[in-house]
Amino acid sequence: MISAEGITKSYGNVRAVDNISFAIREGEITGLLGPNGAGKTTTLRMLTCYLKPDSGSIKVGNYNTEENPLEIKKIIGYLPESAPLYGDMLVYDYLNYIAEIRGLEDKGRIRETGKLCGINDVMHKNISELSKGYKQRVGLAHAMIHDPDILILDEPTSGLDPNQIIEIRNLIKEIGRKKTVILSTHILSEVEATCDRIIIINKGTIVADDRTEHLQKDKVNESRLSIKVSGTDHDTLRRELSSIKGITSIEEKEDHKLISLSLSYPGSMDLRPDIFKLISSRGWIMYEMKPEHISLENIFRELTAGGDNEKH
Ligand code: ADP
Repeated sequence: MISAEGITKSYGNVRAVDNISFAIREGEITGLLGPNGAGKTTTLRMLTCYLKPDSGSIKVGNYNTEENPLEIKKIIGYLPESAPLYGDMLVYDYLNYIAEIRGLEDKGRIRETGKLCGINDVMHKNISELSKGYKQRVGLAHAMIHDPDILILDEPTSGLDPNQIIEIRNLIKEIGRKKTVILSTHILSEVEATCDRIIIINKGTIVADDRTEHLQKDKVNESRLSIKVSGTDHDTLRRELSSIKGITSIEEKEDHKLISLSLSYPGSMDLRPDIFKLISSRGWIMYEMKPEHISLENIFRELTAGGDNEKH
């Protein structure tokens, strides 16, 4: 659906995007994840034809951004990070105005888009009276009024409160059922919650590109298990557990009443039966045994070490 080949973009001597290539498949929600200043907005602006790459090429559908920017703008809807909305207009008038600019004749499209974005109840309110969450919905309706196949959203939940974030994420997922969506974010949980696929970008280059669940599995290749036991002491438990083949680390966790440990072993193994058998054979009591979710947080930190790219 979209393919970028070796695109590069500099501002003066700052190389914001450095020779990146990727392909976005139809019908996926792809997250472009990276710290501030990583080059996300610059990449999205190139995809949407608002910026020209210094080198490299981008194809969107059957079109090339260099040769057919107008055709591409017809099939893409773009929600910039701070969507410029006219505060003193009614929501309906604003969308009507956007529809006219787009040359859309079918006024029914305004209500249809309004329904999808959940704003039909506020159509006759002034945009300035709306909450941030609702303003963002109006921004989304703006981006979708022409029913584009591809939706590109730059930090769609930035500045929203936790409830609004959940609402917008759900809305994006709903929209993603029918459309190809690319969203940028510096918040990891955002992609974990919303995206089928993640492209991690750092200092203008791609450091990971995979399906969300693969990224977790491949990069982590480790299982972690949390156990809570009573009837013995830390040292004995540790010593006995280290006799189980495969355990690579045993960490103590804070617990006032029980012995609480976090055990690691290779992702290809399942040591739960061995651990359970050992503990019951000693007459100790297992209060809890649960897999620990190895969050993408660790992977993200590792891949984007060096932190905020704004300072480079
Ligand atoms: P992100 O969206 O990941 O935060 P950006 O694409 O906005 O990253 O920025 C990438 C780099 O390019 C940063 O170092 C930023 O300071 C720089 N940059 C972005 N826009 C401009 C601009 N208009 N002029 C000069 N430098 C810019």
